[in-house]
Amino acid sequence: MKKSLLILLIVAGFETLLAQSSGYWQQQADYKMNVTMDVKNFQYKGDQELVYTNNSSDTLKRVFYHLYPNAFQPGSEMDARIQSIKDPDARMVNKIKVGEKEVKESRIKNLKPDEIGYLSILNFKQNGVSLATKTVGTILEVTLKKPILPHSQTTFTLDFEGQVPIQIRRSGRNNKEGIALSMAQWYPKIAEFDFEGWHADPYIAREFHGVWGSFDVKITIDSDYVLGGSGYLQNKNEIGHGYQDSEIKVVYPKNTKTLTWHFIAPMVHDFAWAADKNYIHDVVKGPNNVDLHFLYKNNPSVIENWKKIEPLMVEVMDFYNKTVGDYPYKQYSFIQGGDGGMEYAMCTLMLGNGTAEGILGTATHELGHSWFQHVLASNESKHPWMDEGFTSYIEDLALNEIANSKAINPFESAYNAYYKLVESGKEQSQTTQADRYDENKPYSVSSYSKGEVFLAQLEYLIGKENVAKTLKRYFHEFKFKHPTPNDIKRTAERVSGANLDWYLSDWTQTTNTIDYGIKEVAENGDKTAITLERIGRIPMPMDLLVEYADGTKERFYIPLRMMSFEKENPNPEIKRTTLTDWAWAIPTYNFTISKSKSTIKKIIIDPIGLMADVKKENNSYEVK
Ligand SMILES: [Zn+2]
Repeated sequence: MKKSLLILLIVAGFETLLAQSSGYWQQQADYKMNVTMDVKNFQYKGDQELVYTNNSSDTLKRVFYHLYPNAFQPGSEMDARIQSIKDPDARMVNKIKVGEKEVKESRIKNLKPDEIGYLSILNFKQNGVSLATKTVGTILEVTLKKPILPHSQTTFTLDFEGQVPIQIRRSGRNNKEGIALSMAQWYPKIAEFDFEGWHADPYIAREFHGVWGSFDVKITIDSDYVLGGSGYLQNKNEIGHGYQDSEIKVVYPKNTKTLTWHFIAPMVHDFAWAADKNYIHDVVKGPNNVDLHFLYKNNPSVIENWKKIEPLMVEVMDFYNKTVGDYPYKQYSFIQGGDGGMEYAMCTLMLGNGTAEGILGTATHELGHSWFQHVLASNESKHPWMDEGFTSYIEDLALNEIANSKAINPFESAYNAYYKLVESGKEQSQTTQADRYDENKPYSVSSYSKGEVFLAQLEYLIGKENVAKTLKRYFHEFKFKHPTPNDIKRTAERVSGANLDWYLSDWTQTTNTIDYGIKEVAENGDKTAITLERIGRIPMPMDLLVEYADGTKERFYIPLRMMSFEKENPNPEIKRTTLTDWAWAIPTYNFTISKSKSTIKKIIIDPIGLMADVKKENNSYEVK
């Protein structure tokens, strides 16, 4: 045994011990699949072996699988939801005229049998013994003959037959840009069982939660199709199509009609792929020797845009590595496909016919999900703000980094979207299950924008450097796990020393808002008396900037009592005075400036705008 290996094992063992001592555990799902795709009728057949490890202390008497393609059938929950929600996703409806009125009609409603999606399970066995299964919508329920004991392993085998639906949402055939196969949520996938129990959520609209494990997948398809997806291609010099080593010239055996692509994806929680006959396939070296693959249509109008983002994605990956932590795989693929941009393990499926700026934004966002979802795998259906919001946060940081002119507040549009949501009166708490929002828009703003503001506003609370350290530590401690909201909060507390439980509860578990104001500025001899007031429910510390008539500036900082914390001066070139703390329950706060009122030009609360105050008018006071 090599010494380095021994050290690795000791470290791995120690990490396991640490995880166990804190009570954390997670299941493990290791898949082997063979699948054959019929590109003419979009039907596929395959077999699956799943080695499932129960690391919990529960005895499992049932297991659940997701059969996502079944959502794309008339009468499904997804179909019903499109028909009942007030603002259905534009991609999932046809606009039709009924008399004078324009009506949105579910695109799933009228799918014909050869256009729907389905996934049928046959021959289900546990350790070689046949079991009955029950399909309920998009979920397969299996009652086990032999329960899975705590800390034990079992092997499930099954055969499956599927049909790739007309592209409605995320996956499907012949997307609007002509990509033949966008293969996401395509295989029988065991549902996650974690400390909260089973997460056998029906596929209605929103995103996912998966079991960590590995995938060994062999895909047989007509030899003129080019594939991109999760996992490393094991037989690249037999397959070619741009995957072969540079010195290799691939010669296919005579009469080759199909190729079998063999992928292995280690330590992931999903497996997606796409295929088309007309992909250009570029490979660019990224940071740490990671191969960045770009697969896009050989369409003259888009080639230039894709070539433009290739070197930029090297920069963005480098930025994410430095901002969060090193991308842990050796490959990432940007694949034209799907219906917008969607993150998968080691790849994204994204539309590719848009403007250069548009695909840059999408590619930057989706790559960011490699950290916030595909390494830090929070439950997207319960805490979508943790993947969408945090990804949007690093996306805006990255875009600002590579932009020619830098914004003072790169998160401004997220704040504005959040303010509009509050104003609409349609906000629901971020603890809402992702499918349970009344409308799509409040879900999006709550997850993407308010989730982004969670971290941007944390900069206001504990300082930019502490947030930067928090992200790195969060990554280091929770990579390849399922972090929960408390984990990011505790990490920020450990890094900064501030008490932040109130922030997690007020910001993410309620629709409470922030409103502080300057109530009064009064002459007091040769001094000035200032009264601030808290109008909104959410507590906040106060950063105040005073601009004097002579052009000088001064800062005042009022710590929030319940944080037991004093933030460092965010820009030390301006003198800052730390005042006594402000306790939340006391609605007003008085302090004195040692200069006369006539010398003051302006007083501003939070000059950069990182505190999400919903009423900005009372945040500044100009002395007339
Ligand atoms: Zn996203």
